[in-house]
Amino acid sequence: MKRLILVKYAPEIFLKGLNRNKFEQKLRTNISKKLKGIEYKFITDQNRWFIKTEDLEGACERIRRVFGVCEVSVVTEIDRDLDKIKEEALRKVKESDAKTFRITTNRANKKFSKNSMEVSREVGAYVLQHLDKIEVDVHKPDINVIVEIRESAYVWTDKDKIKGVGGLPYGMNGSTMLMLSGGIDSPVAGYLMARRGVELHCVYYHSHPYTSEMAKDKVKDLAKILSNYTEKVNLYVVPFTEIQMDIMEKCREDELTIIMRRFMMRVACKLSEQKGIQSITTGESIGQVASQTMEGLIVSTDVADRPVFRPLIAMDKTEIMDISREIDTYETSILPYEDCCTIFVPKHPKTKPRLEEILKSEENLDCEGLVNEAINNLEIFIF
Ligand code: ATP
Ligand code: MG
Repeated sequence: MKRLILVKYAPEIFLKGLNRNKFEQKLRTNISKKLKGIEYKFITDQNRWFIKTEDLEGACERIRRVFGVCEVSVVTEIDRDLDKIKEEALRKVKESDAKTFRITTNRANKKFSKNSMEVSREVGAYVLQHLDKIEVDVHKPDINVIVEIRESAYVWTDKDKIKGVGGLPYGMNGSTMLMLSGGIDSPVAGYLMARRGVELHCVYYHSHPYTSEMAKDKVKDLAKILSNYTEKVNLYVVPFTEIQMDIMEKCREDELTIIMRRFMMRVACKLSEQKGIQSITTGESIGQVASQTMEGLIVSTDVADRPVFRPLIAMDKTEIMDISREIDTYETSILPYEDCCTIFVPKHPKTKPRLEEILKSEENLDCEGLVNEAINNLEIFIF
């Protein structure tokens, strides 16, 4: 009797037609990267993927966090032999404390003489014969024993299934520059993009000395947590104080926030151009704060020279918080360090900025010079 990990990938990948091969290859590569340090063998049996390893639990925990994987289960591999299947199914039901069960068979290998229905019926009868106080319930069983017949036979139960993170293989869908602040939202936004296969790079605007080293460390910690799901993540820390000071000095107080946001966008785009990154991602959500009004988003997007993605745009804060707990960024995000936006907030920020007025105010600033100066002085951290 051998124990293996069955890896199931997102059904979406089946729908990729001619691209399916590419997706599968990428996913396999990504799984092998995540298993670095664990000894294992990759096995296929009629399109099913299995991992053979001594460290079943450790490997499951890593594989389930690979984007594109929707489920992992530890299964028993046995010979394609009805008696052996019966024994293993019996053992599975016995070791659970189920009062009701069902057998679900999938005979993918037509060389096996009995069909799925016959196998389920005979295995079920065998279990009933050998256990007292147990019944079949095909609709709502306490335990569902799954039998798959391929080159070998495999047996596992619904209780063995561990949910994977889903999504598409990392690196399949271009690249994005995530504006990563220390808050709750932006790490979630980055995670959601990465989960769809988009390669993640991060930029953080640091307002030394108004924001502390601790605030920067917090963002570094968040980038590190994100990198557990992705591959290597670059975090660009861009000095932002000069820009903010210049805006404070030369622009109207109620326009501070929107002009600052336009500078964040400009820097992100310029940096993306230099690094060959295709798009920008932010953690904004419509109506969440004064700067995230429709007008605010339109005016800040206006300076972008590439697509700006806001995966949280239509989510409630509670939904965003739920995801942040799930992905382990929440506890870090709520640590109480100031961010640059909270220090430079005007008393009455414009909630409906008008582009022409903002453009006029910005005439007082050397936008290009400020952006270049900031980028020339950035720090890079790699996680
Ligand atoms: P978050 O929880 O992600 O900080 P927020 O609700 O605090 O978001 P804002 O402070 O208005 O909202 O920021 C909106 C978005 O702008 C953030 O989600 C992030 O993408 C980006 N952003 C804000 N501040 C910074 C910063 N200091 N560095 C990088 N990006 C930032
Ligand atoms: Mg914030």
